[in-house]
Amino acid sequence: MKILLVEDDRSIANSVVEGLQAAGFTVTHVATGAGALAADEHDMILLDLGLPDMDGRDVCRDLRTRTKAPIIMLTARSEEFDRVLGLELGADDYVTKPFSFRELVARIRAVARRSASEPGTAEAESTEAQSVGGLKIDRRTRRVYIDDNEVQLTAKEFDLLAFLAGDVGAVRTRTEILENVWDAHWYGPTKTVDAHVASLRKKLGGHEWIQAVRGVGFRLEPPE
Ligand code: CA
Repeated sequence: MKILLVEDDRSIANSVVEGLQAAGFTVTHVATGAGALAADEHDMILLDLGLPDMDGRDVCRDLRTRTKAPIIMLTARSEEFDRVLGLELGADDYVTKPFSFRELVARIRAVARRSASEPGTAEAESTEAQSVGGLKIDRRTRRVYIDDNEVQLTAKEFDLLAFLAGDVGAVRTRTEILENVWDAHWYGPTKTVDAHVASLRKKLGGHEWIQAVRGVGFRLEPPE
């Protein structure tokens, strides 16, 4: 697995690079946000929140638009890192400094496992795109079309749509959605789901696609 480490603290960077290499990973290290954005494609990104040239949140948001690689944020205890905000920026997980090397590797393995087993990736996907009314969901390429026009979704918006489309018409509770699209250890306010539903509806061009079932959750259904 190729890992990109974005960390400006030289001593942390050196020990993480050495440790990860000893554990069998290939590691590229950059010390700035600009370096992260200029880097080649990697399988996973470890991103320090406090960088000298850019806010790690902005780097995260930018990276998310250009790569599907999972992102683990490295945060210091003193930096108030909002977990829900992190997730909305597209981070997959975070580790608080000081962390043990064992903890970091465990987190990397967990995130890698999760992203490999997500519906819509690797062998879990079918080669046929799914059509729901005028909506087409291609899990292999992670692309979505409405009436053959591509809709640009973030990784989480895609996962949310793909999850709801896994059982068209069935109501999914917010908890089910959080568990399947996010991660149990990121349990936060369920309004995160609502925020993503809202942005997804906007991109799909209307409220009709994703119906709210009061007090229960959401279901995907083609508009009448
Ligand atoms: Ca730093």
